[in-house]
Amino acid sequence: TIFTWTNDNKYKIVLVGDSGVGKTSIFWMYIEEFFPDDVSELKVTMVDFKIKNIVIDNELIKLYIWDTAGQERYRALVSNYFKGTHGIILIFDICNQNSFESIKNSWINLCKEKSNDALFILVGNKSDLKEKRQVQEDKIQAFAQQNSLPYFEVSAFDGSNIIEAFDKMANDIKNKF
Ligand code: GDP
Ligand code: MG
Repeated sequence: TIFTWTNDNKYKIVLVGDSGVGKTSIFWMYIEEFFPDDVSELKVTMVDFKIKNIVIDNELIKLYIWDTAGQERYRALVSNYFKGTHGIILIFDICNQNSFESIKNSWINLCKEKSNDALFILVGNKSDLKEKRQVQEDKIQAFAQQNSLPYFEVSAFDGSNIIEAFDKMANDIKNKF
C-alpha cells in the first residue's frame, strides 16, 4: 500500500479524568500495547506525550497523545496541556461513581473552557471489572446523548475497545481539521 504523507497530519489528543481512572494505563496499552502492572515503576507520567502513527483512508496520521503528569489531583492542568488540542478523551472508571460525577460536574466544563473547538469522546474504563460496576449504563447514555459525546466502554487491562475509541477520535478529528 502506498501512503500519502503531508506534514499537516499531526493531531494532538489529551487524556483527562480523575486520578486512578486508568489514563496512564490506557495510554500505554494503546501506544506500547501492554498493560503496565505498576504504573509508578514506569515513571511515565514524567513524559508529556507519545506519538502513535496510524493510517486513515491511506493517509498516515501522527497522533500526539498527552497523558497528565499527575496534576489531575490539583485540578490545575496548565493551559499548555490543552494548547492546540484537537481531541479530548474524557475518562472515568465504571467502578467509581465519583469519577463519573467529576466528568459531569467539572472536567467537561474545564475542558470546554480551555479548548474551544476540540472534539470530545467519553470513555468508561475497567470494563473487565463489570461485577464491580457502580456507574449505571442508562446514566452514561443519557449524559453522552445530552452532550453529543460518542461513548466507548474499554479496558486497559484486556485491551478491549481501546483501538476502537482512538480510531473514532482520530477519524472525527481528521474529518474536522
Ligand atoms: P491514572 O491515574 O488515571 O493515570 O490511572 P492509572 O493508569 O495509574 O491506573 C490506576 C489503577 O487502575 C492502577 O492500579 C491500574 O493498574 C488500574 N487500572 C487501570 N486500567 C484498568 C483496567 O482497565 N482494568 C483494571 N482491572 N484495572 C485498571
Ligand atoms: Mg496517570
